[in-house]
Amino acid sequence: MRRALATTITAAVLLAGCSSAPVRSQGQPLTAVSATAEDRTDRTNRDGTSAPVADPIYPAYGNPALDVLHYDLSLTWSPPTRTLTGTATIKVRAVRAVAQLRLDFSAAYTLRAISVDGAAVPGRIADGDLVVDKAVTAGSTVTLAVGYTGIPTTVAMPSHRRDVEPLGLTVTADGSLWTMQEPYGASTWYPANDQPSDKALYDIAVTVPSGWAAIASGTPGPSDGVTFRYSSAVPVASYLTTLAVGQYTKTELQGPHGLPITLWTRAADGGQRLDNLKALPVYLQWLEERFGPYPFASTGAVLVPSQSAMETQQMMTIGDSVVDGGSGSAGVLVHELAHQWFGDAVGPATWQDVWLNEGWASYAEQLYRAKSDPAAMDRWEQAARDLDAAARDSAGPPGHPRADSFAENNVYVCPALMLRQIHKAIGDERFFALGRAWAASNAGTARTRADFVTFVNRQTGRDFTDLINTWLDSPKTPA
Ligand SMILES: [Zn+2]
Repeated sequence: MRRALATTITAAVLLAGCSSAPVRSQGQPLTAVSATAEDRTDRTNRDGTSAPVADPIYPAYGNPALDVLHYDLSLTWSPPTRTLTGTATIKVRAVRAVAQLRLDFSAAYTLRAISVDGAAVPGRIADGDLVVDKAVTAGSTVTLAVGYTGIPTTVAMPSHRRDVEPLGLTVTADGSLWTMQEPYGASTWYPANDQPSDKALYDIAVTVPSGWAAIASGTPGPSDGVTFRYSSAVPVASYLTTLAVGQYTKTELQGPHGLPITLWTRAADGGQRLDNLKALPVYLQWLEERFGPYPFASTGAVLVPSQSAMETQQMMTIGDSVVDGGSGSAGVLVHELAHQWFGDAVGPATWQDVWLNEGWASYAEQLYRAKSDPAAMDRWEQAARDLDAAARDSAGPPGHPRADSFAENNVYVCPALMLRQIHKAIGDERFFALGRAWAASNAGTARTRADFVTFVNRQTGRDFTDLINTWLDSPKTPA
């Protein structure tokens, strides 16, 4: 996610003395450190199996007793009535025996029909949950189908910041839809195990009036111009799904190796905004040279009326104001693309470790901004240390984010500086090899700080335990 303000050091700091020096050696393709078999297995498989855990920061969201394997969402949006009508068919595994099936779901909806394995069962929405009266034995998998209809409503962002926007499916004045939903809010448009450790596969079909378009996370499938389809064949965390409906125009590009890129813009987005998005292949090339092949079958961006930007999987949700400027959009777009490796392919098991997402994405963003002037990274580090000190003072250390202060500067700049220290200690070749091995060998999984420390130490042959823990835990900026 992009921080709307102060995510990065100002361009003036970075660009002072900027020259047209050639890209230094870190731009050369690197050989990935080989991953062990242990790294490639456990936790999550490509059938959507996860090992859900209770989130310590937002325990009201998510159900660690259930592991959703697959969501099949069939949705219809009516702009005149602002009504979303849907059927969610959810394949869910009981991690342990449960007396009821309980998933996060907005009270904005009226339930129409509920069944489990084809048999009607009673259910209701209570305390922010869909509650279905069906006991399931440990290890069993059932198919839950839920029909619903209603006018979507958002939920508050858990932050004191004045510039934050509500979370979840948002209806605009003209009847369009968009969503950003980190750390939660997917449950404003479908019943979800709405926490990061339960990744699942998705098939999403959205029917809209003629002349409108629906855009969602995943690989685009066949569309007849009224019903739009998207499929995620590799696991997705609920906060990384997206849905936008509006009068959009599609622009198709190709990235490295022919990677399909789809851009969705509105009439008002022509010119500068669309031109800025058309630079995505350049950013992808730069990222691939460092972190290995883009981890999914397609990518793209949909513009929405927001001040922020979100790394939703395979289809980034980008606030239109983010790409208004002539030069300011590159850093943000590189940041959201970098998240596809760091956050999407491999994500945090809980919100305690959101630094694992934002550290890598922020650091990649800074490296890109400094790509023509290696000395700019030193200037960034100097300025970032001041920002780090202020962030720790105001929001605490990055390894201990506060529930009421989601996505403060501490989880961006502090872990980016931590990665800077590792980078300087091991050099370009081994640092980028570390990044690409982390993303590639953990793809499809949700990980923890302990996983990261173990991985770094094994891959580098050095002990970075104290360095990582100090940067994540210290109330003051480490020396
Ligand atoms: Zn981010």
